[in-house]
Parts: sequence; C-alpha cells; structure tokens
Amino acid sequence: MIAAGIVAAAGSGLRLGADLPKALVPRAGRPLVCWAVDALRAGGVGQIVVAVPPAERAAFAAVLPADAVLVDGGATRTASVRAALAACEPAAEAVLVHDAARALTPPDVVARVLAALAGGARAVVPVLPVVDTTVAVGPDGVITGALPREQIRRVQTPQGFHRATLDDAYRRLPAHAELTDDAAVVHTIGVKVATVPGDERAAKITVPHDLELAELQVRS
Ligand code: C5P
Repeated sequence: MIAAGIVAAAGSGLRLGADLPKALVPRAGRPLVCWAVDALRAGGVGQIVVAVPPAERAAFAAVLPADAVLVDGGATRTASVRAALAACEPAAEAVLVHDAARALTPPDVVARVLAALAGGARAVVPVLPVVDTTVAVGPDGVITGALPREQIRRVQTPQGFHRATLDDAYRRLPAHAELTDDAAVVHTIGVKVATVPGDERAAKITVPHDLELAELQVRS
C-alpha cells in the first residue's frame, strides 16, 4: 500500500516558551520535526508533506530532507492538515497524519497504523489507556459525575486514513471548522475509527517539562 505522511508542524509553540517554532526546537541536536519525519519513514511511509509556518519556510527547508514537500500551514491545525492533504501525491492510497510535536514516536506505532489500514480499516488511531480516575466537572470546577475510565482512551498520532475517506471528510468539512485531530474530521461523516496500541514515547511535547522528558528518552 502506498502511504503518504503529513506532518503538522505549523504551530507556534507558545506554551513551550521557545523563541522559534516548536517543530524547530532541537532535541539531541536535531529539530523535533526531523525526528517526526524519521519515525514516519522508518515505519513505512513514502512521500512526506510538512505543513510549516509560512514565515519560517526557509528555516524548515534547511533542515528537512530534500524530497519532503513543504506547504504553508494555516491558522489552525485543521487548516494546516487541509493544505498538506491537497499536496499529497495522487498515487497515495493511504495518508498518515502526524504531529511534529510527537517527535519521539517509535516506528512500531507507525507500522501498527499502516497494518490496520492494510487490513481494511478506513481510519485508525493509536490510543493509550487512562490510569487515573476520571471525572466530569462543571464550569465551577465541581465534579458533576464519574466517567468510567475503562471507556476512555488518550488519542495519539500518527492517525491513518484510507485516502479517499480523508479527502471526502475534508471536502465536506466547513471551511473554518477547527477540530483537534483528524479522527474527529472523519467522524463528522460517520466513518468508524479503529484503534491500535499507542506508546508513551509518542506523547506530545507541549510544555518545557515535556522537552526535558524527550531529552531523557533520546539518551535512554
Ligand atoms: O497546538 P497543538 O498541540 O494541538 O498542535 C498539534 C500539532 O499541530 C503540532 O505539531 C503543531 O505544530 C501543529 N499545528 C499546525 N498548524 C497550526 C497549529 C498547530 O500544523 N496552525
């Protein structure tokens, strides 16, 4: 199966407190976005399309492999993925969408997603169980009820899709819709989303403490 990989890397990284886009922040001397691209490639993905902050295109081009396709990202993650999807090669039968911020995702996770697609899933996401007790709270912060943690999963990336399914979902999505992941996008057209085991190492690097953990992972 020919699979293209989209890397959403157009976020600002404000919560990380860095003075450059988060995806360019180095870990073990390499920008996070390069780690993310490597994981997709090692897991079996072919073409790579990276959505970058328009003003930083040259800085990304300087560190990414020469055969990576760069597109201008949008104001939201949804807009960035939409732009990258339009640049995926027509031959791609599957598309994996990955967050640059999940820089240390093991290639095994990518391979599990691809295997599920090859097995017939139209959409598949890596997930992890929740170990804490989970509750719902009201606007005042007071608990309104219990949420059974057995029914809850933390959703990671890369998320894999049958190409035509993802194209269709984005085509039908209102122009300014803003969703936090792509499983939510295909859910809007009623597609069933399968799950495969994720990995703690695929955690999203968001705040400075996450970067410290990522550095430890690189060393271990
Ligand atoms: O902000 P959030 O943590 O949801 O970002 C997840 C991923 O989406 C990050 O890798 C970020 O670079 C990317 N993103 C993007 N375009 C945006 C906002 C976020 O590609 N406008």
